[in-house]
Amino acid sequence: MDLALLETTLAEHGEPAYRTRQVWEWTTRGVASYDEMTTLPKALRAGLAGAVPFSTIELVTERQARDGTVKALFRTVDGHPVEAVLMRYRDGRRSLCLSSQSGCPLTCTFCATGAMRFGRNLTASEILDQALHFRRREAVNHAVYMGMGEPFLNVDAVLASAARLPDLGITPRRTTISTVGWIPGLRRFVDEVEKPIRLALSIHAADDAKRSELMPVNDRYPLEDVLAECRRYVELRRRKVFVEYVMLAGVNDSPADAQALAAAIDGRSFKVNLIPYNPTGLYDGSSRETIERFKSVLERARIPATVRLTRGRDIEAACGQLASTR
Ligand code: SAH
Repeated sequence: MDLALLETTLAEHGEPAYRTRQVWEWTTRGVASYDEMTTLPKALRAGLAGAVPFSTIELVTERQARDGTVKALFRTVDGHPVEAVLMRYRDGRRSLCLSSQSGCPLTCTFCATGAMRFGRNLTASEILDQALHFRRREAVNHAVYMGMGEPFLNVDAVLASAARLPDLGITPRRTTISTVGWIPGLRRFVDEVEKPIRLALSIHAADDAKRSELMPVNDRYPLEDVLAECRRYVELRRRKVFVEYVMLAGVNDSPADAQALAAAIDGRSFKVNLIPYNPTGLYDGSSRETIERFKSVLERARIPATVRLTRGRDIEAACGQLASTR
């Protein structure tokens, strides 16, 4: 829902100022249409339905994986595809994976989104409407900006949308923004956001040559500079940064690679999340044993590490698989 459009439309109708808040409250509680907003006069409900689209993005298809994960494909008004995922965990966690762009201009070699055509930045409303879509189905409590796109290339819309997530029941502490280390946006996030929103950094290789090969963006913003920004975040916010590291067989998964990672970061400021590779073409994923060996090298260096649970792989809803192929 375009809140600016809602506000001007209500003002044009001569409605009192509290109406915007009233409509938004109904929306964040998961109603399916204006018609269900029973505290609004009937004529106003009909007027809004004609003037302010209930969602800025249109649902195209939705699929459910065997593990309960749901992936939705949306289209923007100007035709760009956007995917978002709802992950359901047995402990009751309901986590949304939101997209910040349609496609992605960065060409990380292992990521399917990086291989699709870049569309454009999404607006804050288009990001929130992904979350609202799932909110209409059930209560949600976590969000990660780990869908399509690089959040810090679209920092205004990402931060504006994150500021509204608490209205949907997702607190800043349960919101995580993931970045490749796009420094201008990262710096603004560190400087401007006082809320305890969490930060995740996609590293994938601690060695600059190797990292540049996997993530061309590393040539522009080398890891050392990115890590310095992350340390500033840790100082200011007093929370650790999550490090994401996708495990590619024979590429970045040797004990030497683990040692290089352990040397680049420290366990006081960082926590590593090892990601089993979800096949998208070019690479093979590391074996479970290799991942465990990598993890134990980190732990010996006193760096906390976990292995990410893969969700929704059978519907191409897992990390790196969002490319709206269907
Ligand atoms: N651009 C941001 C936000 C996307 S997050 C970022 O890269 O951090 C998506 C996460 O999934 C990133 O950590 C990314 O490296 C990881 N990923 C990409 N392709 C993957 C794949 N095929 N298998 C597993 N993880 C992948």
